[in-house]
Amino acid sequence: MSFKLYNTMSRTQEELVPLKDSHVRMYTCGPTVYNYAHIGNYRAYMFEDLLRRWLKYKGFAVTQVQNLTDVDDKTIRGSRETGLPLREYTQKYKEAFFEDLKTLNIEPAEFYPAATDCIPEMIAIIEKLFAKGLAYKSDDGSVYFPIDKFPEYGKLAHLDREGMRAGARVAQDEYDKENAADFALWKGYDKADGDVVWDSPWGKGRPGWHIECSAMSMKYLGESFDLHTGGVDNIFPHHEDEIAQSEGANGCLYSKYWMHCAHLQVDGKKMSKSLGNFYTLRQVLEKGFTGREIRYELIGTHYRQQLNFTFASLTANRAALARLDEFYTKVQETIGSETRSPKLETQNSELETRNSELETPLPDWAQTLAARFEEALDDDLNIAGGLGALFDGVHEGNKALPMDSKTALAVSNLWKKLDSVLGFLIPPAAEVPAELIEMANARVAAKKAKNFAEADRLRDAITAAGWTVQDTPAGPKLKKA
Ligand code: AMP
Ligand code: ZN
Repeated sequence: MSFKLYNTMSRTQEELVPLKDSHVRMYTCGPTVYNYAHIGNYRAYMFEDLLRRWLKYKGFAVTQVQNLTDVDDKTIRGSRETGLPLREYTQKYKEAFFEDLKTLNIEPAEFYPAATDCIPEMIAIIEKLFAKGLAYKSDDGSVYFPIDKFPEYGKLAHLDREGMRAGARVAQDEYDKENAADFALWKGYDKADGDVVWDSPWGKGRPGWHIECSAMSMKYLGESFDLHTGGVDNIFPHHEDEIAQSEGANGCLYSKYWMHCAHLQVDGKKMSKSLGNFYTLRQVLEKGFTGREIRYELIGTHYRQQLNFTFASLTANRAALARLDEFYTKVQETIGSETRSPKLETQNSELETRNSELETPLPDWAQTLAARFEEALDDDLNIAGGLGALFDGVHEGNKALPMDSKTALAVSNLWKKLDSVLGFLIPPAAEVPAELIEMANARVAAKKAKNFAEADRLRDAITAAGWTVQDTPAGPKLKKA
């Protein structure tokens, strides 16, 4: 089955056919590192993660580039307000971003270029544009792109060219469709930029936001690549301007497909820093929710539908995850009980290897689950359909319990495969607190010394802490009770 995606450019669903073989080269607009990213931003990165994981599940090779915008109007303002040098100011938020990705189990992209490391590439594109008559210098030392010289300007955002004001210029990075105008490729030095300045053939200054993404995508993916993604707010002006300057400079197609996710909302409004209605990931974690629970919430609504964020919904989702975990645990226990060994993990993985050699067929209900899941995700990442198939499958699977250990292993392998897409399906193994490990080891020592009273006391203490201890040939094993 082929994967169909909704291409913002054509406003229709199209089959994904990469430009080269089965290799998808994709670019995703990354965070502006002027603050901690909010969970609205993470909705966009989560959609891109699901997309990337689905492409890999389908057998495509994926090269993904996600940029870090570490110089723009907002980062400069932030560094000025805090009195920190730009690099130092943005470093903290870059690190926080990578920590957050881990918390949310978002797979890392292949490349994370920072804008400040790619200034020569930006200058090279602007030089090409000058050579083609697609750039001009203004009195203030800035360089602009003349949109009336690029007949296709407006093709992504579907702009009405008639309404555009010829010759008008816009210096800011962000503006709305009504103010479509010549946009800044290079911003002439302004005292307010402090020491954030680079030399260029047109004098001192800094790049505009849009040219940054053109330079960083081409540097790693070539002049033409397959897929460009972001939130819907990126369509105009950011992506429209990227197309104009990239296709203008290179004379070839920039990105074959464009995908954009709808916003995470709060009370009917886009979650955004400017409205002040945002939660950072850290704030949600502080309220006691886990990265896995937040992942489930952000991934569970189709990416082109708006999602209203509430803590009530996050809380309600706990029951859904618990249902999945309960089934998964029963399957694992079935595998373990039939092997009649206390050393569950080793036995399971040995059996799993044997199982994949023998390829025990999946029971009918699991085959139906897998087929429905794939059909749904192939349909423009229809996650609601995919999760529907999963929960229906769990319903049937529960009725099919108890199952024999080989069947349970086949189901367990399917779960692993589905989790390569979902990233929340397999419950994370609980981390054993260090003091409990010490107690378990002390108990072994006490038993060796035939001090059984002490060994029993330690077992009771471990039980009181909510854990069980099993003795195995490899040493004591602690499991959450
Ligand atoms: P920014 O840091 O503002 O450049 O945004 C980074 C990414 O997050 C972009 O792809 C935006 O489109 C996306 N984004 C920003 N706010 C939201 C939101 N409330 N819901 C979904 N995506 C968003
Ligand atoms: Zn971008």
